[in-house]
Amino acid sequence: MTTKAAERVDAPEGHGFSAPSGEPGAGGGSALELAAALLELETRDVTAFRAVRAPAEEVRRAAEEAGDEEAAQRAALLLADVLLREGRVGEGGRLAHQALAWAVRHDQPYVQARAHRELSIFYRLVGDISDALTHGVQAVANLADDVAPGIRARHLMTLAVALDDSGSTEEGGRRSREALDLAEEIGDRELELLILNNMTYTAYENGDEPAARALAGRMQRVSAATGRQLAANELDTVARVEMMGNRFDSVEAALAGVIDGRIAVNEGDAAGECMLTLAEARRLNGRFAQAQVALDRAVAECEKNGLARLRARARQEQAALHAAAGDYKAAYEEHLLFHADSAALHSAQRESRARAMQAVFEANEARRASEHFREMAHRDALTGLHNRRYVNERLPALLAEAAANRGPISVAIADLDHFKRINDTLSHATGDTVLQHIGLLLQEAVSGPMIAARMGGEEFLLVFPGMDGAEAARRCELLRLRIRTHGWHAVTGALAVTTSIGVTTAVDGRATVSALLSQADRNLYAAKRAGRDRVVTDLN
Ligand code: GH3
Ligand code: MG
Ligand code: MG
Repeated sequence: MTTKAAERVDAPEGHGFSAPSGEPGAGGGSALELAAALLELETRDVTAFRAVRAPAEEVRRAAEEAGDEEAAQRAALLLADVLLREGRVGEGGRLAHQALAWAVRHDQPYVQARAHRELSIFYRLVGDISDALTHGVQAVANLADDVAPGIRARHLMTLAVALDDSGSTEEGGRRSREALDLAEEIGDRELELLILNNMTYTAYENGDEPAARALAGRMQRVSAATGRQLAANELDTVARVEMMGNRFDSVEAALAGVIDGRIAVNEGDAAGECMLTLAEARRLNGRFAQAQVALDRAVAECEKNGLARLRARARQEQAALHAAAGDYKAAYEEHLLFHADSAALHSAQRESRARAMQAVFEANEARRASEHFREMAHRDALTGLHNRRYVNERLPALLAEAAANRGPISVAIADLDHFKRINDTLSHATGDTVLQHIGLLLQEAVSGPMIAARMGGEEFLLVFPGMDGAEAARRCELLRLRIRTHGWHAVTGALAVTTSIGVTTAVDGRATVSALLSQADRNLYAAKRAGRDRVVTDLN
């Protein structure tokens, strides 16, 4: 068993090469200069996060002097990111909550998206997978279509990690691939390697050897093409993939540079991880004495760097090694020590999580920020879709536009079938996760001027400006099929998830909002009555 996934953050803590120095000054603090400096910092080399602190502080000061609140909040979010990655979780979470409150109050979707991303990282660090996903969804939903690809890639990756954590491997994989394509497109090799490393490790954890192998190969090709050597944590991933196929010589080869010190490991737990991987591979290969040598080095790393989690895993490996060598008494004793370490570790973790949460919520404004966000945003807090408030503001204008053009506009109401069953037989939390997945599927189903919104509960509205009834019906049918064939198994087990959809069209835009919605609702009701999991149009 390995616990590495829980430690995997979406920016590793430095890897054997240093950041470009020479910080850009914040300039004289004109709005444009500040914005340019911020974008540079927001898309800077992902492995050099510490180097962001000083310039971010400088930009923050300059922004405050210039009275540029938006720039100040963006700078605060850069600092939040550094704090979170350094382990100062409470402070980072607090800054992110404050930025979110500001962004919602001032209707600044970009700052909202940035704050949600940091909050997703924060909630992951404090072990709240569900809130991590909620914020991860919002981090992507609030991005404008024309946002810098480097930003979109980072946000997609945060969402992917949150999806992976909540068991939605397929959905996580899709976001990772999107992020990877973007990183490749803009030639950000560090980001590309980071995403690949995450993807490879996820495939390893899921026991998907062909995928893991293909991804590890790609990591090596990127490294070869750019001359950027793989860092220790990346080589550890490669070695674990080789271990999946019992290719023990390849494990040794992958880690050779770390063993003999050619690959500098500047900080963190990477060297210890590598030694532990090596110990495990050698044990599985029956080379017990050499396994012990590697394990001793792993333990030394743990002691040197105070790595409590890795130390516990080393004890577990030691027990396995004793057992493999036939010394069951020593194995049993080590196993007891492992359990004692794990228990102590868990209580220490619980305490530090509680401290982080307290640091965030002591500032009452953080709690208010969350509430404010739920009430005020144009986005639904759970799914990241537009909300009823947004629809109420937008739909009358769209209808008026259609009428002015004498063009069509279609709307559809989608309602999940027997959703109560999911809540009742599984849990309300599972119901929420289903709604989040539906949100992602709806987001995928719309493009351009189309709108997908959550109207409340498990009821959703789609708006298709300029679209006639036949095309709207076709899209709804596609959506219905997409939902029923989605990989629900990971979420609901044997329970299927289907939708009924009622769609209607105002041919020349001549209808009132309430007449249009009533007709869609009548069609939805007909779909339910006819047996659910179907689309009903005006023509049915
Ligand atoms: P039908 O096929 O007729 O639509 O059946 P249904 O069970 O989906 O319909 P009903 O309207 O009776 O039940 C909807 C349920 O959705 C009831 C409510 O508890 C649940 N629900 C509403 N909002 C949420 C939410 O935010 N999260 C979760 N988990 N459940 C919700
Ligand atoms: Mg329903
Ligand atoms: Mg309903």
